[in-house]
Amino acid sequence: MRILVIGSGGREHALVNALHRSPSATKLFAAPGNPGTQSKAENVRLNTQDVDAVANWAQRHEIDLVVVGPEKPLVAGLVDRLEEEGIPAFGPSAAAARLEGSKAFAKAFMKEHDVPTAAFRVFSSDAYDEAAAYLDEVGAPVVVKASGLAGGKGAIVCSTLDEAHAALERIINDKDFGTAGDEVVIEEFMEGVEVSVFAITDGEHYALLPPSQDHKAIGEGGTGPNTGGMGAYAPAPMMTGRLLTRVCREIIEPTLKGMSDAGSPYRGLLYCGLMLAEDGPKVVEFNCRFGDPEAQVVLPLLDVDLADVLAKTARGELRNVAIRASARHAACVVLASDGYPVDYETGFEITGIDKANAMEDVDVIHAGTGRRTDGATVTAGGRVLNVVGYGDTLQAALDRAYAAADVVDFKGKTLRRDIGRHAR
Ligand code: ATP
Repeated sequence: MRILVIGSGGREHALVNALHRSPSATKLFAAPGNPGTQSKAENVRLNTQDVDAVANWAQRHEIDLVVVGPEKPLVAGLVDRLEEEGIPAFGPSAAAARLEGSKAFAKAFMKEHDVPTAAFRVFSSDAYDEAAAYLDEVGAPVVVKASGLAGGKGAIVCSTLDEAHAALERIINDKDFGTAGDEVVIEEFMEGVEVSVFAITDGEHYALLPPSQDHKAIGEGGTGPNTGGMGAYAPAPMMTGRLLTRVCREIIEPTLKGMSDAGSPYRGLLYCGLMLAEDGPKVVEFNCRFGDPEAQVVLPLLDVDLADVLAKTARGELRNVAIRASARHAACVVLASDGYPVDYETGFEITGIDKANAMEDVDVIHAGTGRRTDGATVTAGGRVLNVVGYGDTLQAALDRAYAAADVVDFKGKTLRRDIGRHAR
């Protein structure tokens, strides 16, 4: 199979690595890819937001499967466009990707199908006064969210009413999140432990991947602003078999059935961001693609021909496909630029990548790196590298990831030292 992976971050490097291990993958391309994907795939310069350009390129290069990493091209309808050309693609249609692309849609959908989630109200941006009055009515803590895609920054958790009113101002009046703030979701604050459960589904059948846990905040102990994710590990021990069964019955199955009944069957990766509340698992959010950095710890644990599984998913043939996972553990530590997620500089030379990569049970995944004309690898983003360690226990995986993270260096290297510390 000739496979094109869309995207340029750590998740896509992890996808390329996993597909490279697949016996049924013969040639890999990454568009646009990054310096990490280059070692196993051919990087292709393509504007991945331009669905026609991607479809034409895939057609000309006889691509058998397109695997879409990020949410934006999915919400923009890339999979629909590829299907028009008869090119199988792993990922949901634009209609199904609304589960991530519109929090207002996702919340209304969950309410209609009795999927457990936080109580909420949706307001359009011309209903500022009503939204403000609702905040006064429910009080704090409360969560105020821009409904559309906001790069993981559109959810503002507010511990006081003043903060909540300020969040509403930012979204509606200051338009900090642009058109993503055309609708605002105001949600009850849920107490509990967060965990990510991924299901691969062809719209009817599904298979679960090992549950994982992300660490969203920039600071240790979950302090400071939220980021794209500062580290992850899998499997997440708090997600017991009993809880997973509840997630299947109460969340995944009604969601797949509801989407199918509505005429927009969900195909691809359904990411369930869950809060394990006292009264059971509840949905914080759905995403329509692999989590980043969770993919970096989940994909290496899979004991399958991933290319074959993703192609079967795209063709609607997942029935009877088992996804086996190894009994090992994986841990990922994100190395970020100083100042991320607010302001940061890039262009600093990175040392030690090859040395860290050569360590036993370690993978260094590129997320925001670039190549200078002299061949040096330099920082090119907020999240720069994802250092992944593997082991027979979570502690062994963490020890390897941190030992390798200490071998890599660049100016302003920032990391959390507490990834996986509270796993239980
Ligand atoms: P991303 O796409 O990066 O996952 P997002 O912008 O889609 O983020 P959410 O996932 O909805 O936003 O929320 C981001 C984070 O805010 C969650 O991971 C969680 O930590 C916190 N959060 C969101 N909603 C709630 C809630 N109702 N109760 C408690 N915490 C919440």
